[in-house]
Amino acid sequence: MEFYVVLRYFESTNLLRTISMAIVSKKSQQQDDRIIASSSTEDKDANEFSLRPKSMSEYIGQSEVKKNLSVFIEAAKKRGDPLEHVLFHGPPGLGKTTLANILSKEMNVNIKTTAGPALEKQGDLAAILTNLKPNDILFIDEIHRLKAPVEEILYSAMEDFCLDIVIGKGPAARSMRLSLPKFTLVGATTKLSMLSSPLRDRFGNLIKLEFYKEDEIEQILERSSAIFGLTINDDACVRLAQSSRRTPRIANRLLKRVRDFATVYGDSDTINSAIVEQALAALGVDQLGLDNTDRQILHTIADKFRGGPVGLNTIAAATNEEQNTVEDIYEPYLLQLGFLERTPRGRVVTDRAYKHLGLVAPSQQTMLIAENQ
Ligand code: ADP
Repeated sequence: MEFYVVLRYFESTNLLRTISMAIVSKKSQQQDDRIIASSSTEDKDANEFSLRPKSMSEYIGQSEVKKNLSVFIEAAKKRGDPLEHVLFHGPPGLGKTTLANILSKEMNVNIKTTAGPALEKQGDLAAILTNLKPNDILFIDEIHRLKAPVEEILYSAMEDFCLDIVIGKGPAARSMRLSLPKFTLVGATTKLSMLSSPLRDRFGNLIKLEFYKEDEIEQILERSSAIFGLTINDDACVRLAQSSRRTPRIANRLLKRVRDFATVYGDSDTINSAIVEQALAALGVDQLGLDNTDRQILHTIADKFRGGPVGLNTIAAATNEEQNTVEDIYEPYLLQLGFLERTPRGRVVTDRAYKHLGLVAPSQQTMLIAENQ
Protein backbone atom coordinates (compact mmCIF):
# COMPACT_ATOMS: atom_id res chain seq x y z
CA MET A 1 0.00 0.00 0.00
CA GLU A 2 2.79 2.41 0.95
CA PHE A 3 4.53 1.76 -2.29
CA TYR A 4 1.32 2.45 -4.20
CA VAL A 5 0.82 5.80 -2.46
CA VAL A 6 4.42 6.81 -3.11
CA LEU A 7 4.08 5.80 -6.72
CA ARG A 8 0.98 7.96 -7.06
CA TYR A 9 2.95 10.87 -5.65
CA PHE A 10 5.68 10.39 -8.17
CA GLU A 11 3.12 10.34 -10.97
CA SER A 12 1.22 13.37 -9.77
CA THR A 13 4.22 15.54 -8.96
CA ASN A 14 6.59 14.72 -11.75
CA LEU A 15 9.20 14.93 -9.06
CA LEU A 16 12.25 14.07 -11.08
CA ARG A 17 11.67 16.99 -13.39
CA THR A 18 10.99 19.28 -10.43
CA ILE A 19 14.27 18.38 -8.79
CA SER A 20 16.36 18.54 -11.90
CA MET A 21 15.00 21.94 -12.91
CA ALA A 22 17.18 24.79 -11.69
CA ILE A 23 14.99 27.00 -9.60
CA VAL A 24 15.94 30.56 -10.30
CA SER A 25 13.69 32.97 -8.49
CA LYS A 26 12.71 36.30 -9.92
CA LYS A 27 14.75 38.01 -7.25
CA SER A 28 17.94 36.19 -8.09
CA GLN A 29 17.45 37.00 -11.77
CA GLN A 30 17.33 40.64 -10.82
CA GLN A 31 20.56 40.29 -8.92
CA ASP A 32 22.24 38.48 -11.75
CA ASP A 33 23.50 41.57 -13.50
CA ARG A 34 24.80 43.11 -10.30
CA ILE A 35 28.46 42.53 -9.65
CA ILE A 36 28.27 42.71 -5.89
CA ALA A 37 25.03 40.70 -5.68
CA SER A 38 25.25 37.77 -3.34
CA SER A 39 22.59 35.61 -5.00
CA SER A 40 23.49 32.04 -5.81
CA THR A 41 22.73 32.11 -9.53
CA GLU A 42 26.43 31.80 -10.21
CA ASP A 43 26.41 28.44 -8.46
CA LYS A 44 25.63 27.03 -11.87
CA ASP A 45 29.16 28.05 -12.78
CA ALA A 46 31.57 25.13 -12.55
CA ASN A 47 34.13 27.47 -10.95
CA GLU A 48 31.80 28.26 -8.09
CA PHE A 49 31.41 24.54 -7.53
CA SER A 50 35.15 23.98 -7.37
CA LEU A 51 35.56 26.94 -4.99
CA ARG A 52 33.13 25.52 -2.45
CA PRO A 53 35.02 24.19 0.60
CA LYS A 54 34.44 20.46 0.97
CA SER A 55 35.38 19.93 4.63
CA MET A 56 35.31 21.79 7.95
CA SER A 57 39.07 22.31 7.75
CA GLU A 58 38.76 24.02 4.36
CA TYR A 59 35.90 26.22 5.56
CA ILE A 60 37.38 29.58 6.56
CA GLY A 61 36.02 31.72 9.44
CA GLN A 62 32.78 31.25 11.47
CA SER A 63 34.94 29.56 14.10
CA GLU A 64 32.24 29.34 16.80
CA VAL A 65 29.81 27.76 14.33
CA LYS A 66 32.41 25.25 13.20
CA LYS A 67 33.34 24.38 16.79
CA ASN A 68 29.73 23.72 17.77
CA LEU A 69 28.91 21.77 14.63
CA SER A 70 31.96 19.57 15.12
CA VAL A 71 30.71 18.67 18.61
CA PHE A 72 27.20 17.87 17.30
CA ILE A 73 28.67 15.74 14.51
CA GLU A 74 30.95 13.79 16.82
CA ALA A 75 28.18 13.20 19.37
CA ALA A 76 25.72 12.01 16.71
CA LYS A 77 28.35 9.72 15.21
CA LYS A 78 29.22 8.23 18.62
CA ARG A 79 25.56 7.52 19.33
CA GLY A 80 24.90 6.28 15.80
CA ASP A 81 22.01 8.76 15.51
CA PRO A 82 21.26 11.22 12.73
CA LEU A 83 22.19 14.84 13.44
CA GLU A 84 19.48 16.99 15.01
CA HIS A 85 17.66 19.24 12.55
CA VAL A 86 19.74 22.36 11.83
CA LEU A 87 18.62 25.78 10.65
CA PHE A 88 21.22 28.17 9.20
CA HIS A 89 20.22 31.79 8.95
CA GLY A 90 21.97 34.92 7.75
CA PRO A 91 22.42 37.07 4.64
CA PRO A 92 22.99 35.39 1.25
CA GLY A 93 26.45 34.23 0.22
CA LEU A 94 27.85 33.59 3.72
CA GLY A 95 28.17 29.81 3.36
CA LYS A 96 24.88 28.19 4.45
CA THR A 97 24.66 25.79 1.49
CA THR A 98 28.36 25.05 1.81
CA LEU A 99 27.93 24.08 5.47
CA ALA A 100 24.96 21.82 4.66
CA ASN A 101 27.13 19.94 2.16
CA ILE A 102 30.01 19.76 4.61
CA LEU A 103 27.64 18.26 7.22
CA SER A 104 26.73 15.44 4.83
CA LYS A 105 30.42 14.77 4.07
CA GLU A 106 31.42 14.79 7.73
CA MET A 107 28.48 12.55 8.69
CA ASN A 108 29.16 10.36 5.68
CA VAL A 109 25.53 10.43 4.55
CA ASN A 110 23.69 11.45 1.38
CA ILE A 111 22.29 14.92 0.93
CA LYS A 112 19.18 15.78 -1.08
CA THR A 113 18.86 19.42 -1.98
CA THR A 114 15.78 21.42 -2.81
CA ALA A 115 14.42 24.92 -2.25
CA GLY A 116 11.26 26.31 -0.65
CA PRO A 117 9.79 27.75 -3.88
CA ALA A 118 10.42 24.45 -5.73
CA LEU A 119 8.04 22.54 -3.49
CA GLU A 120 4.69 23.59 -4.87
CA LYS A 121 2.46 20.82 -3.57
CA GLN A 122 2.45 18.59 -0.50
CA GLY A 123 3.12 15.69 -2.85
CA ASP A 124 6.43 17.23 -3.97
CA LEU A 125 7.79 17.13 -0.44
CA ALA A 126 6.12 13.79 0.40
CA ALA A 127 7.86 12.15 -2.54
CA ILE A 128 11.26 13.46 -1.44
CA LEU A 129 10.73 12.45 2.19
CA THR A 130 9.60 8.91 1.38
CA ASN A 131 12.67 8.50 -0.79
CA LEU A 132 15.19 9.33 1.96
CA LYS A 133 17.47 6.66 3.44
CA PRO A 134 18.19 6.41 7.18
CA ASN A 135 20.35 9.31 8.49
CA ASP A 136 20.18 11.17 5.13
CA ILE A 137 20.21 14.95 5.07
CA LEU A 138 17.43 16.87 3.38
CA PHE A 139 18.57 20.43 2.64
CA ILE A 140 15.84 22.99 1.98
CA ASP A 141 17.22 26.35 0.86
CA GLU A 142 15.04 29.46 1.24
CA ILE A 143 12.90 27.48 3.66
CA HIS A 144 10.94 30.63 4.58
CA ARG A 145 9.38 30.47 1.11
CA LEU A 146 7.64 27.10 1.70
CA LYS A 147 3.91 27.23 1.13
CA ALA A 148 1.86 26.74 4.30
CA PRO A 149 0.29 23.35 3.32
CA VAL A 150 3.73 22.00 2.35
CA GLU A 151 5.23 23.29 5.58
CA GLU A 152 2.54 21.57 7.61
CA ILE A 153 3.57 18.08 6.54
CA LEU A 154 7.10 18.88 7.69
CA TYR A 155 5.94 19.17 11.31
CA SER A 156 5.21 15.46 11.86
CA ALA A 157 8.06 14.47 9.55
CA MET A 158 10.55 16.40 11.68
CA GLU A 159 9.14 15.49 15.05
CA ASP A 160 7.85 11.92 14.73
CA PHE A 161 9.46 10.84 11.44
CA CYS A 162 6.11 10.11 9.89
CA LEU A 163 3.99 11.57 7.17
CA ASP A 164 0.31 12.36 7.61
CA ILE A 165 -1.37 12.55 4.25
CA VAL A 166 -4.92 12.73 3.04
CA ILE A 167 -5.85 10.65 0.05
CA GLY A 168 -8.86 11.51 -2.06
CA LYS A 169 -11.35 14.33 -1.70
CA GLY A 170 -14.75 14.91 -0.11
CA PRO A 171 -16.53 12.06 1.70
CA ALA A 172 -14.12 9.51 0.22
CA ALA A 173 -11.07 11.24 1.74
CA ARG A 174 -8.96 9.08 4.04
CA SER A 175 -5.97 10.04 6.13
CA MET A 176 -2.88 7.86 6.19
CA ARG A 177 0.26 7.83 8.29
CA LEU A 178 3.46 6.66 6.63
CA SER A 179 6.60 6.12 8.64
CA LEU A 180 9.79 7.72 7.42
CA PRO A 181 13.43 6.86 8.05
CA LYS A 182 15.15 9.02 10.66
CA PHE A 183 16.67 11.91 8.74
CA THR A 184 18.14 15.36 9.36
CA LEU A 185 16.48 18.43 7.97
CA VAL A 186 18.92 21.25 7.26
CA GLY A 187 17.14 24.51 6.46
CA ALA A 188 18.65 27.76 5.24
CA THR A 189 16.99 31.15 5.31
CA THR A 190 17.91 34.76 4.85
CA LYS A 191 14.77 35.80 6.74
CA LEU A 192 14.41 34.05 10.07
CA SER A 193 11.49 36.31 11.00
CA MET A 194 9.44 34.95 8.12
CA LEU A 195 9.64 31.39 9.45
CA SER A 196 6.55 30.32 11.38
CA SER A 197 7.27 29.51 15.01
CA PRO A 198 6.02 25.87 14.79
CA LEU A 199 8.62 25.25 12.10
CA ARG A 200 11.38 27.21 13.82
CA ASP A 201 10.79 25.41 17.11
CA ARG A 202 11.27 22.00 15.50
CA PHE A 203 14.91 22.71 14.69
CA GLY A 204 17.28 21.47 17.40
CA ASN A 205 20.04 23.87 16.31
CA LEU A 206 19.52 27.43 15.14
CA ILE A 207 22.80 28.72 13.75
CA LYS A 208 23.40 32.30 12.75
CA LEU A 209 26.12 33.06 10.21
CA GLU A 210 27.78 36.44 10.66
CA PHE A 211 29.49 38.64 8.09
CA TYR A 212 33.17 37.64 7.83
CA LYS A 213 36.13 39.58 9.17
CA GLU A 214 38.27 41.25 6.54
CA ASP A 215 41.27 38.99 7.18
CA GLU A 216 39.03 35.93 6.70
CA ILE A 217 37.88 37.29 3.35
CA GLU A 218 41.56 37.76 2.45
CA GLN A 219 42.19 34.09 3.27
CA ILE A 220 39.20 33.10 1.11
CA LEU A 221 40.57 35.20 -1.77
CA GLU A 222 43.99 33.60 -1.40
CA ARG A 223 42.45 30.12 -1.40
CA SER A 224 40.31 30.86 -4.46
CA SER A 225 43.28 32.43 -6.29
CA ALA A 226 45.31 29.28 -5.64
CA ILE A 227 42.47 27.13 -7.02
CA PHE A 228 42.43 29.31 -10.16
CA GLY A 229 46.23 29.07 -10.42
CA LEU A 230 46.64 32.83 -9.83
CA THR A 231 49.15 34.73 -7.73
CA ILE A 232 47.49 37.54 -5.82
CA ASN A 233 49.73 40.24 -4.33
CA ASP A 234 49.14 41.13 -0.68
CA ASP A 235 48.03 44.72 -1.32
CA ALA A 236 45.71 43.58 -4.13
CA CYS A 237 44.19 40.99 -1.79
CA VAL A 238 43.62 43.57 0.97
CA ARG A 239 42.03 46.00 -1.50
CA LEU A 240 39.75 43.35 -2.97
CA ALA A 241 38.72 42.15 0.49
CA GLN A 242 37.73 45.73 1.43
CA SER A 243 35.24 45.81 -1.44
CA SER A 244 33.80 42.34 -0.85
CA ARG A 245 31.09 43.37 1.61
CA ARG A 246 32.54 40.81 4.02
CA THR A 247 30.78 38.09 2.01
CA PRO A 248 32.65 35.10 0.48
CA ARG A 249 30.40 34.83 -2.58
CA ILE A 250 30.99 38.48 -3.46
CA ALA A 251 34.75 38.10 -2.85
CA ASN A 252 34.89 35.16 -5.27
CA ARG A 253 32.77 36.94 -7.82
CA LEU A 254 34.93 40.07 -7.74
CA LEU A 255 38.05 37.92 -8.02
CA LYS A 256 36.67 36.30 -11.18
CA ARG A 257 35.93 39.68 -12.74
CA VAL A 258 39.38 41.02 -11.79
CA ARG A 259 40.87 37.89 -13.35
CA ASP A 260 39.08 38.85 -16.60
CA PHE A 261 40.69 42.29 -16.50
CA ALA A 262 44.09 40.74 -15.74
CA THR A 263 43.70 38.39 -18.72
CA VAL A 264 42.88 41.24 -21.09
CA TYR A 265 44.99 44.13 -19.77
CA GLY A 266 47.70 42.65 -17.58
CA ASP A 267 49.57 39.53 -16.69
CA SER A 268 46.93 36.81 -16.74
CA ASP A 269 48.53 34.86 -13.87
CA THR A 270 49.06 37.70 -11.42
CA ILE A 271 46.57 39.94 -9.67
CA ASN A 272 48.20 43.20 -8.60
CA SER A 273 46.66 46.29 -7.03
CA ALA A 274 46.75 48.29 -10.28
CA ILE A 275 44.56 45.75 -12.06
CA VAL A 276 42.25 45.51 -9.00
CA GLU A 277 41.80 49.31 -9.01
CA GLN A 278 41.17 49.32 -12.75
CA ALA A 279 38.57 46.53 -12.51
CA LEU A 280 36.75 47.96 -9.48
CA ALA A 281 36.58 51.42 -11.07
CA ALA A 282 35.18 49.92 -14.27
CA LEU A 283 32.63 47.91 -12.29
CA GLY A 284 31.59 50.96 -10.24
CA VAL A 285 32.46 49.25 -6.93
CA ASP A 286 33.93 51.59 -4.33
CA GLN A 287 36.28 51.12 -1.35
CA LEU A 288 33.50 49.81 0.87
CA GLY A 289 32.01 47.55 -1.77
CA LEU A 290 29.09 49.84 -2.58
CA ASP A 291 27.92 49.80 -6.19
CA ASN A 292 25.97 52.36 -8.21
CA THR A 293 22.58 51.21 -6.88
CA ASP A 294 23.69 51.41 -3.24
CA ARG A 295 24.91 54.93 -3.83
CA GLN A 296 21.73 55.80 -5.75
CA ILE A 297 19.62 54.67 -2.77
CA LEU A 298 21.64 56.82 -0.38
CA HIS A 299 21.63 59.81 -2.76
CA THR A 300 17.87 59.49 -3.26
CA ILE A 301 17.18 59.70 0.46
CA ALA A 302 19.82 62.39 1.05
CA ASP A 303 19.04 64.65 -1.93
CA LYS A 304 15.37 64.16 -2.69
CA PHE A 305 14.04 63.54 0.81
CA ARG A 306 16.44 65.63 2.86
CA GLY A 307 17.89 62.58 4.57
CA GLY A 308 14.58 60.88 5.42
CA PRO A 309 12.63 59.34 6.98
CA VAL A 310 11.37 57.78 3.76
CA GLY A 311 9.20 54.68 3.34
CA LEU A 312 10.64 51.60 1.67
CA ASN A 313 8.09 51.75 -1.17
CA THR A 314 9.10 55.33 -1.96
CA ILE A 315 12.78 54.37 -2.08
CA ALA A 316 11.94 51.42 -4.33
CA ALA A 317 9.90 53.61 -6.71
CA ALA A 318 12.52 56.36 -6.79
CA THR A 319 15.36 53.94 -7.55
CA ASN A 320 13.39 51.74 -9.94
CA GLU A 321 14.01 48.63 -7.87
CA GLU A 322 11.55 46.19 -6.33
CA GLN A 323 10.73 46.71 -2.68
CA ASN A 324 11.93 43.20 -1.80
CA THR A 325 15.20 43.73 -3.63
CA VAL A 326 15.90 46.93 -1.71
CA GLU A 327 14.99 45.29 1.58
CA ASP A 328 16.79 41.95 1.12
CA ILE A 329 19.78 42.81 -1.03
CA TYR A 330 20.80 46.42 -0.56
CA GLU A 331 19.62 47.39 2.89
CA PRO A 332 21.34 44.78 5.12
CA TYR A 333 24.84 45.88 4.19
CA LEU A 334 23.97 49.61 4.33
CA LEU A 335 22.49 49.06 7.79
CA GLN A 336 25.57 47.09 8.76
CA LEU A 337 27.85 49.92 7.68
CA GLY A 338 25.74 52.31 9.73
CA PHE A 339 24.80 54.28 6.60
CA LEU A 340 21.07 53.71 7.01
CA GLU A 341 18.80 53.58 10.01
CA ARG A 342 15.38 51.98 10.22
CA THR A 343 12.91 54.09 12.17
CA PRO A 344 9.16 53.55 12.64
CA ARG A 345 8.58 56.38 10.13
CA GLY A 346 10.96 55.10 7.48
CA ARG A 347 14.61 54.94 6.46
CA VAL A 348 17.06 57.68 7.41
CA VAL A 349 20.59 58.21 6.08
CA THR A 350 23.21 58.82 8.75
CA ASP A 351 26.02 61.38 8.96
CA ARG A 352 28.45 58.58 8.08
CA ALA A 353 26.68 58.04 4.78
CA TYR A 354 26.81 61.78 3.99
CA LYS A 355 30.53 61.72 4.66
CA HIS A 356 31.06 58.72 2.40
CA LEU A 357 29.08 60.40 -0.40
CA GLY A 358 31.12 63.58 0.05
CA LEU A 359 28.06 65.58 1.14
CA VAL A 360 27.44 67.80 4.16
CA ALA A 361 24.95 66.24 6.58
CA PRO A 362 21.93 68.40 7.60
CA SER A 363 23.18 68.43 11.22
CA GLN A 364 26.51 69.82 10.03
CA GLN A 365 24.75 72.35 7.77
CA THR A 366 22.91 73.83 10.77
CA MET A 367 26.19 74.09 12.65
CA LEU A 368 27.89 75.77 9.69
CA ILE A 369 25.03 78.30 9.32
CA ALA A 370 25.16 79.05 13.07
CA GLU A 371 28.92 79.57 12.90
CA ASN A 372 28.60 81.95 9.92
CA GLN A 373 25.96 84.10 11.66
P1 ADP B 1 24.66 30.76 1.03
O1 ADP B 1 24.07 29.38 0.93
O2 ADP B 1 24.75 31.27 2.44
O3 ADP B 1 24.01 31.76 0.12
P2 ADP B 1 26.98 29.48 -0.14
O4 ADP B 1 27.19 28.36 0.80
O5 ADP B 1 26.34 29.16 -1.46
O6 ADP B 1 26.19 30.68 0.56
O7 ADP B 1 28.43 30.17 -0.39
C1 ADP B 1 28.70 30.96 -1.49
C2 ADP B 1 30.10 30.71 -2.00
O8 ADP B 1 31.01 31.33 -1.11
C3 ADP B 1 30.50 29.23 -2.02
O9 ADP B 1 30.38 28.68 -3.27
C4 ADP B 1 31.94 29.21 -1.60
O10 ADP B 1 32.77 29.24 -2.74
C5 ADP B 1 32.13 30.50 -0.86
N1 ADP B 1 32.23 30.31 0.59
C6 ADP B 1 31.22 30.43 1.48
N2 ADP B 1 31.66 30.27 2.74
C7 ADP B 1 32.99 30.04 2.64
C8 ADP B 1 34.01 29.80 3.62
N3 ADP B 1 33.74 29.82 4.92
N4 ADP B 1 35.26 29.59 3.17
C9 ADP B 1 35.54 29.63 1.86
N5 ADP B 1 34.61 29.86 0.89
C10 ADP B 1 33.37 30.07 1.27
